[in-house]
Amino acid sequence: MSVVGFDLGFQSCYVAVARAGGIETVANEYSDRCTPSFVSFGARNRSIGAAAKSQVVTNCRNTVQGFKRFHGRAFSDPYVQSAKTNLVYDLAQMPSGSTGIKVMYMEEEKVFSIEQVTGMLLNKLKETAESALKKPVADCVISVPSYFTDAERRSVMDAAQIAGLNCLRLMNETTAVTLAYGIYKQDLPAPEEKPRIVVFVDVGHSGYQVSVCAFNKGKLKILATAFDSDLGGKDFDDILVSHFCEEFRKKYKLDVKSKPRALGRLYQECEKLKKLMSANCSDLPLNIECFMNDIDVSGKLNRGQFEEMCAGLLAKVEAPLRSILEQAKLKKEDIYAVEIVGGASRIPAIKERISKFFGKELSTTLNADEAVARGCALQCAILSPAFKVREFSITDVVPYPISLKWNSAAEEGLSDCEVFPKNHAAPFSKVLTFFRKEPFTLEAYYNNLKELPYPSSTIGQFLIQNVVPQASGESAKVKVKVRVSVHGVFSVSSASLVEVLKTAEGEEPMETEQPGKDEENKMQVDPEDQKLASGDNGDKKSETEEMETMTEDANKEKKNDQPPQAKKPKVKTKTIELPIVNNLSWQLSSDVLNVFVENEGKMVMQDKLEKERNDAKNNVEEYVYEMRDKLHGALEKFVTEADRDTFSLKLEDTENWLYEDGEDQQKQVYIDKLAELKKMGQPIHERYIESEERPRAFEELGRQIQLYMKIIEAYKAKDEQYNHLDELEVTRADKQVNDAMVWMNGKMNQQNSQDLTLDPVVKVEEIKAKTKELYSACNPVVSKSKPKVEPPKEEKTENGPVNGQEGTENQPCNPDKATSAGTGQGTAEKKLPEMDID
Ligand code: ATP
Ligand code: MG
Repeated sequence: MSVVGFDLGFQSCYVAVARAGGIETVANEYSDRCTPSFVSFGARNRSIGAAAKSQVVTNCRNTVQGFKRFHGRAFSDPYVQSAKTNLVYDLAQMPSGSTGIKVMYMEEEKVFSIEQVTGMLLNKLKETAESALKKPVADCVISVPSYFTDAERRSVMDAAQIAGLNCLRLMNETTAVTLAYGIYKQDLPAPEEKPRIVVFVDVGHSGYQVSVCAFNKGKLKILATAFDSDLGGKDFDDILVSHFCEEFRKKYKLDVKSKPRALGRLYQECEKLKKLMSANCSDLPLNIECFMNDIDVSGKLNRGQFEEMCAGLLAKVEAPLRSILEQAKLKKEDIYAVEIVGGASRIPAIKERISKFFGKELSTTLNADEAVARGCALQCAILSPAFKVREFSITDVVPYPISLKWNSAAEEGLSDCEVFPKNHAAPFSKVLTFFRKEPFTLEAYYNNLKELPYPSSTIGQFLIQNVVPQASGESAKVKVKVRVSVHGVFSVSSASLVEVLKTAEGEEPMETEQPGKDEENKMQVDPEDQKLASGDNGDKKSETEEMETMTEDANKEKKNDQPPQAKKPKVKTKTIELPIVNNLSWQLSSDVLNVFVENEGKMVMQDKLEKERNDAKNNVEEYVYEMRDKLHGALEKFVTEADRDTFSLKLEDTENWLYEDGEDQQKQVYIDKLAELKKMGQPIHERYIESEERPRAFEELGRQIQLYMKIIEAYKAKDEQYNHLDELEVTRADKQVNDAMVWMNGKMNQQNSQDLTLDPVVKVEEIKAKTKELYSACNPVVSKSKPKVEPPKEEKTENGPVNGQEGTENQPCNPDKATSAGTGQGTAEKKLPEMDID
């Protein structure tokens, strides 16, 4: 299984993986750790990431960017409609009413859902992780802004599924940062001590998020979050662009906004200028050549002027900071540190305001760009059984209060109840009890529309089916489990009917189990439940709360099937699981999702085919250039003048063909073309290679011959070292050595008089075979060990000569094994990789 974290940013994405005992942010195919959140559609393929961004001016209408905030939103949503006016590409309404993008792809007009587009981007990020880890990736953790609603989160989860990813957790961006900060800290207060309170601020391209977190040894607890979803680097770019549009209108009479390409270029230049102004407060130029109508434009700006223009935006920095302190009931003095991340946190005026608010120097101990991805990878490592990570518990919060409403009996009308107040711990499950005679629907909604950066309060409807009255005709008790999952998504996760089977003789069923008349059709919550529902999170935990908090652990889930009352011996009950029909707002149906998964697979295949076609074409082009150079260089000696002229002409024709008829051909055409060229070029190239390698091969054979000759001579001279060798065998070896020498000398002489433009008289392979043959014939004969007369000497040095033999110089070496470097690590103990997080 893979351990990967993805920061899915509005402008750029980062991928972090667990590798070699640590967390590493990995680079894409351009050796860049930042992958732009761009997808570009072409006539034959898609480009994603940096390749797509490079088309933002040339293929602007079909290059999609800035789509992160379209997740889970209706096409008619005011955010979508207002963003639409500033986009160069088209948006369209999906059949379900949600937001899609309209582009030309494969020479046809296509509408893709936002989940598909993000799925494409995620697929690219997945590939980056795969090539870094050199294995398939599925398990991962993906970041989302803490202010994302249920619909937005579910939509990102669907995108992950389209990309073939198994998202173990959708993690709030600031929570990921919090983890990346806390898990490495060795000096956190002990669990019973007062926690260390740290504020985290992320200023990205589209949004501004703040959270406050309490750290103790081994755990972090988010206390509150706040945000301004309309404050990010993008808004500063917008102000700069408007400023220069106005300036160029006056100065050059240009209507920049009427020309998407020009507008795109202006955005790029303004972003660069904005970044420069972060480092420099003097006047800085903005120049664009041939901007519109062949006019070169120029302007200038300094940081002071920029800050004045952005006063309105900068005034928005403080509110979320104040909000978290109020929510968490903290004073500025309680804050140990303020850690800032996100690209736009580099804007000096933003830093100043945050620092002034807290009366503190800001801390920048984390990598401002990569902290989110690293936190996600750490979370994935914690969740992965394949990694051993220090225990660290993470408690997040519910960002918006969630309520349930349902229809009571006719005279009662609509009832409702807040099940998860704002900042309630998450993930979390609760069990609610209803008394009903028939199936009923619960509607979950956000009860404070004012807080949402989103126009709709509905989360979804949940129909609890198969509810029937008790045998006595009374309302049945229905236990409904609601939860906010690790993804921060609300659901009615299960429902069960508690059936009273029989009571012990002479005993009345417990009163609490029997609803009075007026209780029918009402939701009844155990006192503890009620306390929870009303937001009492005091330290004194009731038994029910214990059970509920533990429900995230699958082992303990079963416990909850036994309602607390079941412990009383007098009543026997049976619980029956009830089916639930979900109707979640903006949720893709599984059919549609399956089609999207299938289509993504087809598009990936199409991209792959197109890449192979392009590679085949590039191979032809590269071969033409390479051969043209070499024919007048290294290969010159190995080809006759006439052949060289013919081949040169052929190469030139091919080059022309590549720009004309050969511009756009099937992959096979290029493969055939290359084969045709190689038919001419390969023999020349082979002659060159043979001539390069031949001397070394002869040298090796010669060395072997010399060596055996020396030993045989020593044997003949009755050298004591060799007198144990078998005479007949030595005579045979002697003949082999002589034959080999005659063969070698003969071949060398022939080859020396052979023209280099002709094929060699002997191939390197043949010489190597000869060497091997000689070794096999002679080595067993000469390397026979001498029978021992004396007890062997004890001395033995590690890796050194053994038994007094003087080195290995005189030992013939096996030509087969001469280069092998096996070290035999097969017995290494298999251990779980351990995260080195210190
Ligand atoms: P989001 O978090 O909203 O989804 P993101 O994660 O893609 O977006 P980041 O990569 O954190 O955003 O930040 C990108 C923004 O930071 C851009 O607006 C970029 O221009 C801005 N930025 C980066 N470096 C600087 C700098 N030195 N000075 C000013 N702004 C900068
Ligand atoms: Mg971000």
